[in-house]
Amino acid sequence: MKLYYNRTKIVATMGPASAKKEVLLAMIKAGVNVCRLNFSHGRPEDHKGVIDTIREINAEYKTNVGILADLQGPKIRIGLVKDGGIHLVNGTQIKITTQECIGNDEQIYITYDTFPQDVQADEIILLDDGKLQLKVITTNRLDTVICEVVHGGILTSRKGVNLPNTKVSIPSLTEEDLINLQFALKYDVEWIGLSFVRTGQDIIELKEIIRQSGKAAKVIAKVEKPEAIDNIDEIIAATDGVMVARGDLGVEMPLEEVPLLQKMIARKCRAASKPVIVATQMLESMITTPRPTRAEVNDVANSVLDGADAVMLSGETSVGEFPVIVIETMAKIVRNVEELGYPFNTSKTDVVVDPTSLNYLSDALCESAVHLAQSTDAVGIVSMTTSGYTAFQISSHRPKASTYIFTSNKQLLNALSLVWGVRSFYYDKLESTDDTINDVNGILKAAELIKTGDVVINTAAVPIIKQGKTNMLKVSVIE
Ligand code: PGA
Ligand code: MN
Repeated sequence: MKLYYNRTKIVATMGPASAKKEVLLAMIKAGVNVCRLNFSHGRPEDHKGVIDTIREINAEYKTNVGILADLQGPKIRIGLVKDGGIHLVNGTQIKITTQECIGNDEQIYITYDTFPQDVQADEIILLDDGKLQLKVITTNRLDTVICEVVHGGILTSRKGVNLPNTKVSIPSLTEEDLINLQFALKYDVEWIGLSFVRTGQDIIELKEIIRQSGKAAKVIAKVEKPEAIDNIDEIIAATDGVMVARGDLGVEMPLEEVPLLQKMIARKCRAASKPVIVATQMLESMITTPRPTRAEVNDVANSVLDGADAVMLSGETSVGEFPVIVIETMAKIVRNVEELGYPFNTSKTDVVVDPTSLNYLSDALCESAVHLAQSTDAVGIVSMTTSGYTAFQISSHRPKASTYIFTSNKQLLNALSLVWGVRSFYYDKLESTDDTINDVNGILKAAELIKTGDVVINTAAVPIIKQGKTNMLKVSVIE
């Protein structure tokens, strides 16, 4: 269906601009691998419609597009304000109240009941993506906080609030998140994103709910708070994947720190063999213009080089005017880096090797598969997996050879769409090792992905019938 399969995956946020089947299909043909449903916006029936459309396309076109359901988490907003917005003037005072009201020049409502108890004098309050800034003067510790306007401007209804210095006591999964989570699990989405993650425990709790519901959805921790940066190691250890959520991260942290934080998170995720998504404002100007700025093109390319598994689009595809052109543009940038300057087969850094780990031997084997592919100039690494573990491992070594993963786990098929370089295929026969390897290599040859004379590296867990850990490597020359 496609001419080029990008190794670095593309995540597109769904919205009115991309909900129509023919638009979504064109986006998928142009390179979208995963669709993000943003539960901060949209009604459940809209999300259900998009889920149905994606599944229809997967069935009709034999694609494996995955779905990422992104939960809002403890996001704080102001309430409705009077028509035309409020004009906040530098140096003046404004009251923030936890009593619901329509905001005016004296007071604004905040959707955070314990704000007056949690906040301290001198703490910073950022409104509307940091465009407006207030400073806390006093709190009555009950329902009212008096603030001074530091950077004023026009404030309109329902804008987001960031509290970079405040210890926010709202639970990591709000009541609304729990409802949206059940919805997402009911429709078997492959990935669940959690916003404003603070600790590893936040992820452990989310995973426990998923486990109790009997579902297999994997989890993305959205890193967008200073506390998450402080706890980054435990968060990566607990999660299945990470998003560098630069929108809120760039409000809550000094903006100039974001580029190096992105590199640090990408490096640690690769060391842990967990996928990392780089998100927000990647091609922002394309919301209204069909050509990106040169700085945006550089940002996408540099994020690929930083080691992103996936690059993400938000408003560009959810509400923008050019959803298909955006994907074509992003795919071209990714492709150019991968064809002309990608650091394939480079060693991972910062890996903590634990010889007592149950995966110690299979991890070593996956690394060897990538080395062997390089030294034999193999065109593919072909593996079978039920848990997906092997796919994540092989991908983390960023092989130049294409990674073809065969699995009987239907949900994994689409989940792996987020993982760098992985292309997955459904396969449910449990033959002898020789037969299975011939079989899967034959499938790739029939699909014209490999041809006679090509070298591929096969990995497997033998005996195949046992479905154990990967323990075998074979160099195959395609007949
Ligand atoms: P959001 O998350 O779009 O849900 O806010 C991404 C970000 O903050 O960058
Ligand atoms: Mn965010």
